[in-house]
Amino acid sequence: MKSVTQSHTPVFNFSRIALVAVATFLMGAQGFGAYPSEEETPAQRTEDYNSAVALMQDLAAKNPTVAQTFQLGVNNGGQAIMGLKVGTGAIHNLLVATHHGNEYGSTEIAKAFAKDLVLKPIQGQTIYIIPVLNIPGYNMRARRETVNSRSYDPNRDYPGPCGSEGPFHLNSTKALADFVEREGIVASSTIHTFSPAVLYPWGVSTHDLSTPYDAIFIELANLATQESHYTVGNSTEVLYAADGTFEDYAFWKHGIWSLLFEAGYSHSPNATAVAELIRVNVPGLRRMYEHAPSARADDHAFHGKCDTRMRSMDRHDE
Ligand SMILES: [Zn+2]
Repeated sequence: MKSVTQSHTPVFNFSRIALVAVATFLMGAQGFGAYPSEEETPAQRTEDYNSAVALMQDLAAKNPTVAQTFQLGVNNGGQAIMGLKVGTGAIHNLLVATHHGNEYGSTEIAKAFAKDLVLKPIQGQTIYIIPVLNIPGYNMRARRETVNSRSYDPNRDYPGPCGSEGPFHLNSTKALADFVEREGIVASSTIHTFSPAVLYPWGVSTHDLSTPYDAIFIELANLATQESHYTVGNSTEVLYAADGTFEDYAFWKHGIWSLLFEAGYSHSPNATAVAELIRVNVPGLRRMYEHAPSARADDHAFHGKCDTRMRSMDRHDE
């Protein structure tokens, strides 16, 4: 069982900052194209929201008994946010990708998971897959979702025990919140890039990080990372405190078994890196859902104390 110690965090953050600094310098000196391992390939550049919808329609058409497309809702720009429902089981679970529009690697994981799942749905479960929540951001490879020339970070737009930058400036986040309530979602994964890590609540501005279910969350995260060997840990400890995220909202409001995937090593993985994201995350996601509890957690209230000074640690970059 992997564990996370406090001493890892500063070392990790330092090396990350150093890497970004070096990369920024080199890109400035030699042009972005000099580093293909960190550059989006032309194939990925053409992947827009319509191609994700086309894939879901194709999977549903070819596997009509197990897969159907569904409409989550309509965003502020009037676009339908589409998903794929896979399986016929009584337990309803969720995978949502690309809250942050620049994190296209997460959408590639969601699409690959959908392809895998239609071939072999998980017995007893229906899994709702939303490959792109932030459609305008995804099409522009921009983190935030823009509405009438104002932009919002979608993953700070949910209510939370220590506040939020919202809640619900965006129709997309409100639609997802309504959906998890309506469908009785029990377990969820929300896919982002990158850290790499698989994280569990609490991730809010607090020093009281534990829930009564740390052991279950750690077990699920360990199951999810057998191929990837990503770091497993508490959100605030491994990454940084962030208020108004979906992953904390889902647990806090409903007791949903909610894991946050900060997949891979880059926001701009090339084709090789995307293939690796898929190879190491799809089997782990399946395993995580297979072993997730079949009912929501009972004791999901936040019993700790908020420390709003920790908000300054939120880097808004993952
Ligand atoms: Zn993100």
